[in-house]
Amino acid sequence: MRDPRYDPLFEPIRIGPVTAKNRFFQVPHCNGMGHAMPLAHAAMREVKAEGGWAVVSTEECEIHPSTDLTPYVEARLWDDRDIPALALMCEKVHAHGALAAVELTHNGPAASNLFSREVLLAPSHQPTKYGYPHQARAMDKADIRDYRRWHREAAVRGMKAGMDLVYVYAAHDLSLAMHFLQCRRNQRTDEYGGSLENRVRLLRELIEDTKDAVGHRCGVALRFATEEMLGPGGVELAEARDIVAMLAELPDLWDVNVSAWYNDSLPSRFGGEGAQEPFVDFVKKTTSKPVVGVGRFTSPDTMVSQLRRGVIDIIGAARPSIADPFLPRKIEEGRLDDIRECIGCNVCVSGDNTVSPIRCTQNPSMGEEWRKGWHPERIKPASKPAKVLVVGGGPAGLEAARALGQRGFEVSLAEASKELGGRVSCEARLPGLAEWARVRDWRLGQINKLPNVATYLDSRLEAADVLEFGADHVVIATGARWRRDGFGRSHGLGIPDFEGNSNVFTPDDLMDGSLPEGEVVVFDDDGGYHATVAAELLAKAGRRVHFVTPEDVVAPWGQFTLEYRHVRKRLAALGVQVHVSKVIVGYAGGSLRVEDAWSGEVLELPADGVVSVTARIPDDALFQSLRARLAGQAETKAISLHRIGDCEAPGLIAHAVYAGFALAQGLGEPATDGVPFRRHFHHGGNAT
Ligand code: ADP
Ligand code: SF4
Repeated sequence: MRDPRYDPLFEPIRIGPVTAKNRFFQVPHCNGMGHAMPLAHAAMREVKAEGGWAVVSTEECEIHPSTDLTPYVEARLWDDRDIPALALMCEKVHAHGALAAVELTHNGPAASNLFSREVLLAPSHQPTKYGYPHQARAMDKADIRDYRRWHREAAVRGMKAGMDLVYVYAAHDLSLAMHFLQCRRNQRTDEYGGSLENRVRLLRELIEDTKDAVGHRCGVALRFATEEMLGPGGVELAEARDIVAMLAELPDLWDVNVSAWYNDSLPSRFGGEGAQEPFVDFVKKTTSKPVVGVGRFTSPDTMVSQLRRGVIDIIGAARPSIADPFLPRKIEEGRLDDIRECIGCNVCVSGDNTVSPIRCTQNPSMGEEWRKGWHPERIKPASKPAKVLVVGGGPAGLEAARALGQRGFEVSLAEASKELGGRVSCEARLPGLAEWARVRDWRLGQINKLPNVATYLDSRLEAADVLEFGADHVVIATGARWRRDGFGRSHGLGIPDFEGNSNVFTPDDLMDGSLPEGEVVVFDDDGGYHATVAAELLAKAGRRVHFVTPEDVVAPWGQFTLEYRHVRKRLAALGVQVHVSKVIVGYAGGSLRVEDAWSGEVLELPADGVVSVTARIPDDALFQSLRARLAGQAETKAISLHRIGDCEAPGLIAHAVYAGFALAQGLGEPATDGVPFRRHFHHGGNAT
């Protein structure tokens, strides 16, 4: 079944005392569940193992209360009482013939200790990484000895939990082992500071300690960042080459990437598949040990090329394994067109950063494996056959039609335009968002394989058409439009000068190809990606662009998705003038008057056109009219009527896909008004 071209991806490989069954390695990734929701965490990792990943790792795992990462929820091995939670994961992962890995870490000044209230530790006295108003103190020799002991003890606990691989973590500017390497964080004058040899000493000792403690049973992996892109204060490629040479044969496995997280998990807007190759390809030439690398790999051809060209030995993946936990199995079974490719939107990352369970645009079951019993590949068959009409072929409608089709319903999907995909098709034409189209393409591919799903294009339905159709269930997924009246978070009464003004544009106008001329203001009261993408589009089309926002930072949601720095750099490179903390007081005669939110100072900005990115309004007329008609007449046949996605409440594409999947899961099933998912409860066990 498998194309022999991909055979190298399925060759087993030894990692110290253990053997990975193939070359697919789910590298550590945060998930917002961690130690707080161990059952949910274990079930999520199990699905990866079931999907064919040879190694499935935890996220970063705190080794001691002095590396408490609150508010972030990661894995934890502070003492033996934390073992059972991770043992749960190991059992689940082993049940599918995969190896389990744990990424041990002490985050030093990148921890918070907000929960434990311990004093933070660092190579030298320094401020905390995340802006907390307390400093980390310099570690003395006794602290270093303690740290090494904690790491060793955590490694043993990991082994007792059933881990097959134990990581030493020196990446992402997050762990002490890396902080000792960095000149900006390490100003020590003893044998742990100064020369490269000295700065590497602790990392070398940690690897040696870990091998000594668990190396007879577990492979010892080193996660190492080769470049921080911060100049001489950070790890730079030239020095990283020396470090790899110095430690070449010491770990059983090298897992290499770039730092920090915003460079490693680069959003697709700023980089494509395999973007890290120039930063990590030297490693394999320097060591005989296996090398894992990441690059948001979703194409088996790219993967096999990485192996054949000797760039890496093992395909590392976080996001591709989130979007499609079954990616390896699909390659193995020759089902390449079933691969649900990651779109690089980093909504998954936003889960961790908002301290909530992981979610994924492409894979609505991610994070819901335990609490809702959802699976990325399987779904409960329909309890009773029924005819379903889905109106609107955007991400919500497409996902509903696909999943309902998979359940065996007789599904018709009607779309008003000549193209499926809704907002996804429109947004994918904007700069940097081409991969958004994968949301549509995967669903179309699946729908085309389902004989019980029929799609109708160019079919704008009115209420009468829907009623005439005679479906048992009607799902309205008709989307939303951007508002033109300036209403939003900061202008709750709208902006009077915007009403009826032909120089005011919305993102929908831009996506329809209608762009303002001359000097343009993009007004962002939304805070997501739409406004910065609009600014990019306009600047690239030769307009002079001002970016105005009531927020104190540009597009704040991008801080959760790791886009923020990249967006700021891109806007700066395109010459976009940024004005933060500004609300609009008027727009007339080619001039936009804005007021500083704090000083009240008024500024006039030349504006031949304004692009207003404030809020959207659901396109729910069809739903409302159907609801009214169904309520007003005694129907011969009872129809269940539903609305999902942007036509209910506009959100991210991820929300629309989730809504489609959730609707499909519950359709025709008994409704509950109780809590619709399982939760973790802590009964007893507090005494010891
Ligand atoms: P969502 O993100 O909720 O899926 P979109 O805006 O992406 O919403 O998609 C909504 C889709 O519904 C669009 O493709 C639009 O053309 C289609 N649509 C809107 N009204 C109707 C209608 N009355 N009949 C059929 N299709 C419709
Ligand atoms: Fe990829 Fe987006 Fe899913 Fe993350 S949320 S795995 S970036 S598709």
